[in-house]
Amino acid sequence: MKSDLIGKKIATLKKEIQGAKLVAVSKLSSIEEIDLAIKAKQYDFGENRVNDLLEKAVHFSNLNISKIKWHFIGNLQTKKIKELFSVPDLYAIHSVDSIRLLEEMLKKENELKSKEVKVFFQINTSHESEKNGFESIEELKLAIGLLLKRAKPKLVFYGLMTMGTIRTDNFEAEAKRCFSDLARIGNEIKTHFNLKEKVKLSMGMSSDYKLAITEGSDYVRIGSAIFK
Ligand SMILES: *Cc1c(COP(=O)(O)O)cnc(C)c1O
Repeated sequence: MKSDLIGKKIATLKKEIQGAKLVAVSKLSSIEEIDLAIKAKQYDFGENRVNDLLEKAVHFSNLNISKIKWHFIGNLQTKKIKELFSVPDLYAIHSVDSIRLLEEMLKKENELKSKEVKVFFQINTSHESEKNGFESIEELKLAIGLLLKRAKPKLVFYGLMTMGTIRTDNFEAEAKRCFSDLARIGNEIKTHFNLKEKVKLSMGMSSDYKLAITEGSDYVRIGSAIFK
């Protein structure tokens, strides 16, 4: 039965990722499949399209399933910020990839339905041209500085996100390099801003989460290994 299978996969993954958080990426999954995951006590879900996220989040919010935390993990267009900010139980945005986007988000901060939303900055550690994300540490520092300097923020700096290289003959070595780069940048940011907490790392998907865990991931984003 599918319900058993989803539950078993989630239980196995949670053991494998040790203390890290599992974000179940439900972008290709139906409401019914998400429901099965919830029955298996999975409450963190990731979506990469604002429309789909809003639809699913509203559905579960209307059912009063209050434990759910929604993670936005996709490319965010400026014109979609307003809609994203209206999502109930929005917990984190993993994909803030430029200062320009951050500035637009800050302008609309008061429209956030959630009291607080965690912000991850996406870093292009693979340097592939089709990938989004910060390429320069100096720009990243400027962006984080913008977030940190506000008095009563709703958008709070939380961590960094990256994806491993897709086109490569050496998938493992490349993924490992991307993930260790992100960990190094996280440490540099922590020192630079004299932060008390670890800069959280959002890295690892179905194909490479074990490598990401080895490199210190705090949030793995896993879709196909759960729902396919
Ligand atoms: C789809 C997606 C994932 C999950 O990918 P799987 O290979 O299905 O685990 C993780 N992160 C992002 C940004 C995605 O778009």
